Amino acid sequence: LVSRKKKPDNTIVMVKGEAIGDGSQRFIAGPCAVESYEQVAEVAKVVKQQGIKLLRGGAYKPRTSPYDFQGLGLEGLKILKQAADEYDLAVISEIVTPGDIETALDYVDVIQIGARNMQNFELLKAAGSVNKPVLLKRGLAATIDEFINAAEYIMSKGNGQIILCERGIRTYERATRNTLDISAVPILKKETHLPVLVDVTHSTGRRDLLLPTAKAALAIGADGVMAEVHPDPAVALSDSAQQMNIPQFNEFMSKLKPLCNRN
Ligand code: PEP
Ligand code: MN
Repeated sequence: LVSRKKKPDNTIVMVKGEAIGDGSQRFIAGPCAVESYEQVAEVAKVVKQQGIKLLRGGAYKPRTSPYDFQGLGLEGLKILKQAADEYDLAVISEIVTPGDIETALDYVDVIQIGARNMQNFELLKAAGSVNKPVLLKRGLAATIDEFINAAEYIMSKGNGQIILCERGIRTYERATRNTLDISAVPILKKETHLPVLVDVTHSTGRRDLLLPTAKAALAIGADGVMAEVHPDPAVALSDSAQQMNIPQFNEFMSKLKPLCNRN
């Protein structure tokens, strides 16, 4: 169902009036994790100022260590929605449990399925059974074929509003947190009819590489870029080394905006 052979024209996913995959390149920005209303609102304000529609923030955080900050859960979704409503933004947040999908419908405009859950088939089926856009991230060590099959799980249940997100894969290279597989973007665009985004934050894990990798993503034809922004990354409860502060984010956007395709 996700194959371009079945449907030659591009799928456009509508999120609160904004089209993703229509030829205009879009951004998703926000903190790694929701920490407080003040923290999210500060970021939401600049996201809005930059003309971005989609505010991200993790409420259920899939952390490597059980002793690290696990996220605020439902309270985090509520905070995110409150801040987004204030600035007329759409919300994207990761859901990690099939049972939380229904609840999340009241708070998010896009359900994110994270890299660690790309092959959580029960979660994919649950997300496929609702009428809400889904952003599916590539698994940490998933082939492109496995990634496409994960999207197929969602679509096979009836939900065709899927956005794919390349976020780097595990290789032997340790200079970056993951290795951004930039060629996955044109391959996914060729093999499927779905929009494809690039998450520069989790693919590189390095603040100094966000701008060059985002330029590469736009140049290679991604439908958009995701990046993390925090008012004070040094004290962030997760992903402190890779989030941009607000001046850095404004600089990042000013360099990228002239490069974006618009239709
Ligand atoms: C995230 O975007 O919050 C995240 C945890 O990313 P990933 O699933 O790609 O690691
Ligand atoms: Mn993060």
